[in-house]
Amino acid sequence: MTDLNLEHWWQPFTNVRAFQKNPRVFTRAEGSFLFREDGGDVLDITAGLWCCNIGHARREVADAVRDQLMQLDYAPPFQFGTPPAFQFATRLMAHTPEGINRIFFTNSGSEAVDTALKIAHLYQFARGKGSKTRFISRQQGYHGVNIGGTSMQGLPTNRHGFPLLQEVDFLPGMLDISRNAFSRGCPEHGTDRMTDAFEQIIALRGADSICAVIIEPISGAGGMVPPPQGYLQKVRELCDEHDILLIFDEVITGFGRTGSAFAATEFGVTPDIMTSAKAINGGTVPMGGVFVKDSIQQTIFDNTPDTVPEFFHGNTYAGTPVAAAAGLAALDIYESEGLFTCASGAKGEHWANTLHAMGDLPQVIDIRNYGLLGAVSFDPLDAPAKSLGPRIHQRCYENGLLCRAVGDHMVMSPPLSISESEIDLFAERFRKSVLEALG
Ligand code: PMP
Repeated sequence: MTDLNLEHWWQPFTNVRAFQKNPRVFTRAEGSFLFREDGGDVLDITAGLWCCNIGHARREVADAVRDQLMQLDYAPPFQFGTPPAFQFATRLMAHTPEGINRIFFTNSGSEAVDTALKIAHLYQFARGKGSKTRFISRQQGYHGVNIGGTSMQGLPTNRHGFPLLQEVDFLPGMLDISRNAFSRGCPEHGTDRMTDAFEQIIALRGADSICAVIIEPISGAGGMVPPPQGYLQKVRELCDEHDILLIFDEVITGFGRTGSAFAATEFGVTPDIMTSAKAINGGTVPMGGVFVKDSIQQTIFDNTPDTVPEFFHGNTYAGTPVAAAAGLAALDIYESEGLFTCASGAKGEHWANTLHAMGDLPQVIDIRNYGLLGAVSFDPLDAPAKSLGPRIHQRCYENGLLCRAVGDHMVMSPPLSISESEIDLFAERFRKSVLEALG
């Protein structure tokens, strides 16, 4: 039991009263492992919160952060710049889809989402289409916790009780276990049903009122659900046809999760705006960003008087030299170790095979995977709905495995640097934990 005082930190998305009775505290990390207070190792099959894609505690990043802190810890990003931020932005563009060559740095995914929504609005105003103010999002979508992103959230518990933007419609969610159970990669069914719903919203609201659609290419916090075949391509076509911007929220899918640097490249669909955060510098120093297509940025610049900022928006810690230095060091690792593409190679195949071999566990009703992402869904049967996931989660933790429970879906996103033998260790610990939790 911890001797820490647990009375003063109000932790995010945490039942603090339950935590105080059952504290779970990590004190150290290395590679694919976190270490508990009692010294026990916990295989981190979540890469933190989908962010430690290069593995934990990389010395190269630590050295870069320390050196940068001593060289230039901070300078204001408003009307000034620092070499690491320009260098990082430039190097990132080698990995973005064609036509995307600018990044607006933020500190988090939530800020990236709200910034993206504002850029979309600004663009419509700049080109004289100020009536296009509505957004379309998707059920089960997660877009961070600021008011814009909360308004786009398709997860009811995260919206409840907050004052939200009203001009938002929702596409149907992508999870369809009744027709797509145990698919590998992108499932077969659902595109027509979901894009028909998109067309109905356009017919109801009128394309002249719609600013942008915001979706995760793969739904993350909604249960790790890959898009059905052809879905993203069809959404892009409808956006083009009706002059609606397409925003991909790549906060989870960016930086190698899918087998490409971005899901946009993986699926061959270029959005107009793309959000990112988390793994941008390996989850080490808070950082996010909004990638913007050249045509969007150019329209805004061309329609702004020379004497004022093009965008009256920004954060004190946007693109700090330290966060950017961490990003440059992380990018060296991504590039030199081939991490952006390893999820589509032998490692990804081993991951998919390992995951799908769990189908014989009791109460499993679906297994999904894409790249180095995965989910196993359980039927709660007579257990109170949503109690099974947390039970499995707790058994996993006790048996040395960190998974994520989203309701009764167990969701996984290992560090991209994970080894095949660590994937086997995951299978062993997960199996044991599920059997104990159901026993
Ligand atoms: N968008 C998506 C798709 C996310 O998964 C998350 C975080 N899980 C966010 C936005 C918000 O990011 P942050 O927690 O860094 O604010």
